[in-house]
Amino acid sequence: MEKNTKTKRAPRSRKPASAKKSKQVQEQSKNTIALIYDFDGTLSPKNMQEYAFLPKIGMQAKKFWTEVAKLSIEREAEPLITYMHLMYKKAKEKGVHILRDDLVSQGKDVEFCPGVEKWFDLIESYVKKQSSDAVNVRHYLISSGLKEIIEGTKIYDRFHNVFASEYFFDAYELPYPKRVISDTSKTQYLFRINKGVEDVNKSINSHMPEQERPIPFSQMIYFGDGETDVPSMAVTRQNKGFAMAVYPKAKSAKICKELFSVGRVDFYAEADYTKGSDLHKRTCLLIDKILSDIKVREEKEKL
Ligand SMILES: [Mg+2]
Repeated sequence: MEKNTKTKRAPRSRKPASAKKSKQVQEQSKNTIALIYDFDGTLSPKNMQEYAFLPKIGMQAKKFWTEVAKLSIEREAEPLITYMHLMYKKAKEKGVHILRDDLVSQGKDVEFCPGVEKWFDLIESYVKKQSSDAVNVRHYLISSGLKEIIEGTKIYDRFHNVFASEYFFDAYELPYPKRVISDTSKTQYLFRINKGVEDVNKSINSHMPEQERPIPFSQMIYFGDGETDVPSMAVTRQNKGFAMAVYPKAKSAKICKELFSVGRVDFYAEADYTKGSDLHKRTCLLIDKILSDIKVREEKEKL
């Protein structure tokens, strides 16, 4: 079956490599598997603000996040908007002026879980081999963290698209949230990937028959550490896709075990992306299942 996987991409200041036109044209006639990742706690062991932003304003991570939680309860404010607000309020109090470019350059300090930098090639070559180059892979990021910081990380170019919270830097005296991605709003971006409507200026709500959707949920694997990922895992799995819970080595597997025991994820594993790790093996198993389902569907379509 031919799939139209061409998508209109949102404008951005620096495009990931996979957005290049030649690759898109080449992809159009292939089935596509989408691997969709949360960032903080999933690809990176800590929250991205903890590597450069908070040290720069002399604030300890634990103290900052405790204050975010306290303020959001006191003022009945959305926690994601509260952290975005508090980041700049604290910087201003310290007399530290931070511009968009500063946040982007802070991205280079963000650390990754083991194996992350080689993971993308590892998975792409696996799918290429197992499908005899008939199926294409895309990696997507949906993060409540900051697009500006992600843009400066080494792995930014590996994503077909990145959906994350962002600032207006010219709105008021302090930067103002431009896009806020909460746990439930993450699911909107799953539907954008599913329907091929990745341009955030376009409405996602108009009806599109299942067979016209470029990436069916059954060809998606969602990776998350659980804290902001439950709605995305539920939406993916309810629509016949797959979900993987991960935990960074320094953290407990408790949340992952709970998610697994109540059937919210297919597997869980330590966030170790190196070849031969449990995460790698279990991801390959899910990919094998997706590839075999594609083959079964294509065979049925011949009848
Ligand atoms: Mg997370």
